[in-house]
Amino acid sequence: TAHASAERESRNIVDSAGGACPDRQVTLSVVVPCHNEEACLPLFLSAAAQAVREIIVAYPGTTAELVLVDDGSTDSTVALLRQAATSGDGHTAFPFVVRWLSLSRNFGKEGALLAGLDVAQGDVVAVMDADLQDPPSLLPRMFAMLADDPTLDCVATRRTTRAGEPPVRSMCAHMFYRLMNAMSPVAVPDGARDFRMMRRRVVDALTSLTERNRFSKGLYAWVGFHTEWIDYPNTRRAAGKSNWNFFSLTRYAIEGLISCSTVPLAVASYIGLLLCAVAFGATCFIAVRAAMFGDPVAGWPSLACIITFIGGLQLMCLGIIGRYLANTYLESKRRPNYIVRDGNISIRDAGNTRF
Ligand code: UDP
Ligand code: MG
Repeated sequence: TAHASAERESRNIVDSAGGACPDRQVTLSVVVPCHNEEACLPLFLSAAAQAVREIIVAYPGTTAELVLVDDGSTDSTVALLRQAATSGDGHTAFPFVVRWLSLSRNFGKEGALLAGLDVAQGDVVAVMDADLQDPPSLLPRMFAMLADDPTLDCVATRRTTRAGEPPVRSMCAHMFYRLMNAMSPVAVPDGARDFRMMRRRVVDALTSLTERNRFSKGLYAWVGFHTEWIDYPNTRRAAGKSNWNFFSLTRYAIEGLISCSTVPLAVASYIGLLLCAVAFGATCFIAVRAAMFGDPVAGWPSLACIITFIGGLQLMCLGIIGRYLANTYLESKRRPNYIVRDGNISIRDAGNTRF
């Protein structure tokens, strides 16, 4: 659409030849954030090539690009991206143009994803992981669903099983989705992946959200649009190891909840109110008992307990308020979500022009 192309122009996308990008029509973009994926990338590239070839056979005239975003990798990921962009996979030409960006440091998956979405030119954009946990073999089916149904805006995926994952992680994940859906106005199905294929209008909606604290699954749900789900069983990482540990996942969960809901703030005040009521009742009870029966008010240990309990609760509530305050502070700084260091797409200050 005119809006989309104006938008893209305003972001100064210049193609690898160095000239301003002509109206090159790309039908499909596949955006992939990569952090230390040297072990998976070669496998991913050939699987993605296979899938895109299938799409081109089924829908001749389709042009595709692969947008690879290196998220501050410390291994040979960048070298692999550079190589993929210049020499294909060595044997056969890729059925897509490889465009890549390298961020100035590790900004986290959300930052890398946004960078990819910002530069993707496709009418249809897919986002997926590099580790083959999002099977590229689903791409043709997703593309066909969008191509054949003009009323559909987005095809999303969800895992039906979490086989092969540490049980503690699955349990925490289930709990997280329960909490998330109870607290936030938009629904994120349990098992939802970031793996999805969207029409341009959905991508434009997503990239127009300027918040710092991005929780993609919440944002996908928030922007709405007509979405259909594909279910598939969990697949293990092809190689390498997960970039997440217990602490980073916990942080991700808390950030997710806080970015999508203000219910925790309300919970804090309700707990406070409830405790005030309880304390007031107890005080009345003790005072009446002392006045009527002359009971001495004894028991400093119980008092100490109560003080500690209330002190703890106050700290908890302050903590919750603090999280929101911290978020407001971060948002108010209006820093970009990512900074581009290198790549074969030169976007003048990609991250910095967002605000
Ligand atoms: N990733 C990233 N930046 C990060 C962490 C991860 O770009 O800081 C990418 C990673 O390369 C992969 C995807 O995000 O393509 C999912 O990461 P991972 O497989 O480690 O997560 P898991 O599947 O264990 O949730
Ligand atoms: Mg993975």
